Amino acid sequence: EKYGVNINGTDICELRAIDYADENGHYNVVEYLLQNGIMDNLKEDSKFLTSKFPEVKLFSKSINSYEDLYNFSIENNEEFWRTLALNRLEWFKEFDKVNNGLDFNDYENYEHKWFINGKINVSVNCVDRHYKKNPNKTAVIWDKDEPGTEQYVTYSELYKLMNKFSNMIRHFNVKKGDSVIIYLPTSLYAIAAMLACARIGAVHSVVFGGFSSESLASRIQNCQAKIVITSNQGVRGGRFIEFKQTVDTAIETCPFVEHVLVYKRTDNPFQVNKDKDIIIDDIIDTFPDECEPEIMDSNDPLFILFTSGSTGKPKGLVHSNAGYLLQASLTQQLVFNYDCEKDVFGCLADIGWITGHSYVVYGTLCNGGTTVLFESTPTYPDPSRYWQTVERLKINQLYLAPTAIRLLIKHGDEWLKKHDKSSLKCLGSVGEPINVEAWNWFYEKVGEKRCKIADTWWQTETGAHCITPLPCGSNDILKPGMAMRPFFGIQLALMDQNGNESDTKHIEGMLCIKKPWPSMAMTVFGDDQRFKETYLKPYRGYFFTGDGAFFDNDGHIKITGRVDDVMNVSGHRIGTAEIENILSEHPDVAESAVVGVPHELTGEAVFAYIVLKETQKSEQEIFKQLKNLVKKKIASHAIPNTILVTPNLPKTRSGKIMRRILRKIASNQIEDLGDLSTISESNVIEEIIQSFRSMS
Ligand code: ATP
Ligand code: MG
Repeated sequence: EKYGVNINGTDICELRAIDYADENGHYNVVEYLLQNGIMDNLKEDSKFLTSKFPEVKLFSKSINSYEDLYNFSIENNEEFWRTLALNRLEWFKEFDKVNNGLDFNDYENYEHKWFINGKINVSVNCVDRHYKKNPNKTAVIWDKDEPGTEQYVTYSELYKLMNKFSNMIRHFNVKKGDSVIIYLPTSLYAIAAMLACARIGAVHSVVFGGFSSESLASRIQNCQAKIVITSNQGVRGGRFIEFKQTVDTAIETCPFVEHVLVYKRTDNPFQVNKDKDIIIDDIIDTFPDECEPEIMDSNDPLFILFTSGSTGKPKGLVHSNAGYLLQASLTQQLVFNYDCEKDVFGCLADIGWITGHSYVVYGTLCNGGTTVLFESTPTYPDPSRYWQTVERLKINQLYLAPTAIRLLIKHGDEWLKKHDKSSLKCLGSVGEPINVEAWNWFYEKVGEKRCKIADTWWQTETGAHCITPLPCGSNDILKPGMAMRPFFGIQLALMDQNGNESDTKHIEGMLCIKKPWPSMAMTVFGDDQRFKETYLKPYRGYFFTGDGAFFDNDGHIKITGRVDDVMNVSGHRIGTAEIENILSEHPDVAESAVVGVPHELTGEAVFAYIVLKETQKSEQEIFKQLKNLVKKKIASHAIPNTILVTPNLPKTRSGKIMRRILRKIASNQIEDLGDLSTISESNVIEEIIQSFRSMS
């Protein structure tokens, strides 16, 4: 006989009588629920919600579970965001309205406006208020390239440095609304420069330090920046990187640049151009350490940031002050179960990416936390760098990209064993779909099965997390390689091939977002048309992400990869991630990338690139095993027609596989490889072309 158990109107589970009868035949449901962790789950859920999310008490409905809160955030979307914005941010003047009420239907006229007429300053929220309350608390731990040379910076020190920096750039005639290029290594001065711009209302555009002078020049031209902030050199993986030289070459084509502000990261000499160059170190201390913050409108631009360029020419997205800050800080705290009083947050991304902006800088500092600025690489001086950094800085949350995890797996487990990782409470992954093998390794070897993994899906465009498992610390289940659930306030839709919204269970389709959310990008800088055409036009009424997703039977979400990368073999649609997952399970495969190539019979055929670990086996033997694996785990039509071993895969500078290039090579369109400005090592392409030619 079966009994339904129902608490507060929610069906919790179904029990068979025999499951909860004791030896005497007495039934004790509560006992059963407790013993089996079901009650715990409930208690934890509501305990978690009220402790981590005190605002739930302020809502007009009672909230007892995740489901309640999610439903409330959708049904009472305005009240949800209003309450959070008023309670989490400090305003000069509170806003009149939560948003302008526009949705994506009339996309030609869509304008992203949130917290209307609110007056705010991001730097006040990120620094001043914590400085006043807790001046000696560590705000930033700058983990410099050389291990053991980290620098701890308190809120008081950060406050003063930021203010001097603000006064300095004001002195060089930077005004509210002007654009400033920041081309700096991940360093204390980079954070100071970003916050200084925010303080005086200048719009920063941070350019990742690995970019060439041409890419840098095109970004400087794009926003017509009057000043460029850089360093003489960078230091990464024990090597010097010539930042200043790159800037000098870039500005040859940017006559409007008035000044280059140079911070001396190293003691090595460099070329000084007397007309334009200002040495920051020589003058910064002459500026006062108090600086009046500019009063900014909620919807004034805070920064411009370019996407990674995985799928084409990068887009320079513009983010707002208030909406952006709210969602970045909310997700930083909730998703990672971040304890703002005590925890050390280790997001190891470069500040030049959106992950660096939202989680190294703005989100964490807005919460008054302690953030780690990681200047080095995962393998410097050896592949234990991450783990010894965790031990040395006592990092509580570690947030990485799958590409780094795959790289470290390749180096073997010994590197992990020497280090104490007991400080870790929660792990995070971002940037690409995380394959199951990498997920399991991260969970078992790094998190020692104790830490949850937040597989966070989001984009430069979304500004902050949009899909992620329930917060670490709650008792939610996890599924390897799945991003799981929409974040509060986010409503997702999957579109089928005819452009209709599909049912939300056990279905695959194009991932869209139904309603605007606070941290959504406002536009593409200087090209609103491109913004609307790329994101709002493909599915009228929806924001189109460019990614594909799968909703399983429980409604949990898996990201299947870029829609552009989906293959159609004999009428079957297959995502690249699905096949790559299986290939990467093979013990000899370090990494893989799959693309579709035109095929006479099947329409498209699967072409797989693999990078091998050191192995005794022959390639032919491995190919055979791989084909069998795919057949067994997916289907015959997914078996790669061709497998090509290459020493490396082409990646963006943020570490993402550039399948569009691999697709061109596989279909022998080598003359026209497309925009290569964001590729991290261009010699990789040569290597692959060679392997391709020797195969055919
Ligand atoms: P471009 O838009 O120029 O092609 P990009 O999309 O790689 O570059 P980003 O904004 O840095 O630029 O990356 C966002 C993309 O990264 C997402 O659209 C998605 O494809 C991928 N991504 C991010 N997080 C995840 C995740 N957790 N799981 C799967 N994919 C992810
Ligand atoms: Mg993108």
